[in-house]
Amino acid sequence: MTAPLHEAHPAGPGRALPDTQQGMRRRNLARVMHTVSAEGPLSRAAVASRIGLTRAAVSTLVDELIRSGLLEELGPERPGRVGRPGSALAVPGRGPAGLGAEIGVDHLAVCAVDLRGEVRARAVRHGTNRARSPEPVVAELTELIRRVVAEGEREGLTPVGLAVAVPGLVARDARTVVRAPNLGWQDVDLSVLLPQEFPLLVDNEANFGSLAELWLGDGTPRDFLHVSAEIGIGGAVVVDGRLLRGVRGFAGELGHVPVRPDGPECVCGGRGCLEQYAGEEAVLRAAGLEPDGDRVGLLSGRAAEGDEDVRRALRDAGEALGIALTGAVNLLDPEGVVLGGALAGLAPWLLPSLETELARRTAGPACPVSVSRLGSEGPLLGAAHSVVRAVLDDPAAVAAGA
Ligand SMILES: [Zn+2]
Repeated sequence: MTAPLHEAHPAGPGRALPDTQQGMRRRNLARVMHTVSAEGPLSRAAVASRIGLTRAAVSTLVDELIRSGLLEELGPERPGRVGRPGSALAVPGRGPAGLGAEIGVDHLAVCAVDLRGEVRARAVRHGTNRARSPEPVVAELTELIRRVVAEGEREGLTPVGLAVAVPGLVARDARTVVRAPNLGWQDVDLSVLLPQEFPLLVDNEANFGSLAELWLGDGTPRDFLHVSAEIGIGGAVVVDGRLLRGVRGFAGELGHVPVRPDGPECVCGGRGCLEQYAGEEAVLRAAGLEPDGDRVGLLSGRAAEGDEDVRRALRDAGEALGIALTGAVNLLDPEGVVLGGALAGLAPWLLPSLETELARRTAGPACPVSVSRLGSEGPLLGAAHSVVRAVLDDPAAVAAGA
């Protein structure tokens, strides 16, 4: 293991760094990385004033980060500035990169994100994974990973970790898919099936989607509920900028909150769960359409044309979402709700009934509902960025392994 993994990693260095001189140095290296990453290019003096350390102290930290290839100097700043000219520091577009992967019910995707947060390589394969055993699916994913790694290497990128989003419950070991009902998988240890050379982090796709929203979204609050849909419904709770995981790591299963206790049976063993009303297939069925191909495109296209059956099905889905979210909002009092995944593309037809239910049923003032601009890209980006964030959070660990 060379690279650290993000705080999302339940067993990993989300724990605070030790309160020793060494711990202090690592924390300061992280502060320099985060500052340059968020605001760079910056001179050493500018970094020093941002983080409140002396220029000499910052120079020592910067030199270490440059030696490790985690920062680069862009050359002298343009003349005319006050004070001694300094060289601007930036996060390089070469060197460590995060690999993100997604196992979807209908697709596989892999991407590489550099330390600047840019997607530099990507590969996608469409085709159903439902009722396929894990081995051939992961073999195909591995092929995509190899392709993305090769493409990244040609651009000077070195993957330092692999994060995989799955549509199911993941154990707190961050490796084992405990249950993915829409794939038909149970107790699958992905670490033995995936390439061994990268530190691995497996998590629920809704969790990665919510982290992407937190890190990449436009003005996303630090306390919010994230709800997304594909075949199933994914939910995640972010409290003060951190995912709420629960004892076993299963928190946020909004899709299995009962909306109508006497409703249809659900894959989870319950009845009348939200997923039975607001999952993509449920909405298609309710609209009398065949679930085939581009489901969101089909629904949004028909709704835009004024198809009354589709509009009614989406109104009902919005109402079910409103009822389920009411429980969560009353319980947790978040700053907002973010609709992601397929729900983002269907928001114009879901929102009116959703917001009506939420306003009618919540105890306090209505909780604002916003629409993700990441849409169905969220989980893949959240996965890759969680590896990148881990580098920014503890650059010393990467330097030591370099
Ligand atoms: Zn259920």
